Amino acid sequence: REREQLRLERMICVNQLAAGIAHEIRNPLTSIKGFIQLMARRGDRPVSLEHLEIIISEIGRIDNLISEFQMLSRPLKEPLVEKINVYKLVNDVLLLMEGQFRNKNIVFPPQLPLAGGCVLGDADQLKQVFINLVKNALEAVPIGGNVIIVASCQQDMIAVTIENDGDGIAPEIIEKLGTPFFTTKANGTGLGLSVCYSIVQNHGGKIMISSLPGRRTAFTVLLPSPADEGVSMNK
Ligand code: ADP
Ligand code: MG
Repeated sequence: REREQLRLERMICVNQLAAGIAHEIRNPLTSIKGFIQLMARRGDRPVSLEHLEIIISEIGRIDNLISEFQMLSRPLKEPLVEKINVYKLVNDVLLLMEGQFRNKNIVFPPQLPLAGGCVLGDADQLKQVFINLVKNALEAVPIGGNVIIVASCQQDMIAVTIENDGDGIAPEIIEKLGTPFFTTKANGTGLGLSVCYSIVQNHGGKIMISSLPGRRTAFTVLLPSPADEGVSMNK
């Protein structure tokens, strides 16, 4: 009976995903179609650059959606298992995103010390987790606010917290986070956190959210760190 229950839950999940993706792709497609029809009706008058730009940006939205959707299916594969220095990985992600901090005039957080602990896992997948979380923090932080990254190693766990000033998240919204396609943003896909949850879960870890409404939000990624660190593997 348990197996039947699981099968049913998966079906519902697939249904929701399919409905979500259909809806998300139809929106930009409708506007692309509308603008192309408009351009066709204008006959031999010059094509408006503005309309072309809208079309390009709507195609970009579909493109983004599909990339995130692909990411969501990727963690279903067995993650690679290699020894990863999480602090270094987070530093790499931050450097990758430096331009996005600068664009919003957000102080670039200091690099984490390189002494941090290691986890066994898939570097590309874990990078994606931190990219998504930092991206969300940058989208939520007001101009001139702070994004802070804190990491710590305790016993057999590594914790990395990404915290940002901002409006925080209302409790009734926190409950919905991680549901595919749940977004409060006009141009959001609502897939970023789903990808994060699924990857972190696959690594035996978890994500914790703490929010002070009106003040700040913090996402903490907890990952198990092998006890025999450095003994059996030396990569
Ligand atoms: P998207 O960013 O496309 O909306 P996500 O899955 O990444 O999708 O995030 C889902 C929702 O979670 C966001 O729309 C937002 O409401 C909320 N959220 C995520 N991160 C933060 C944050 N740092 N501060 C406030 N709200 C957040
Ligand atoms: Mg996001």
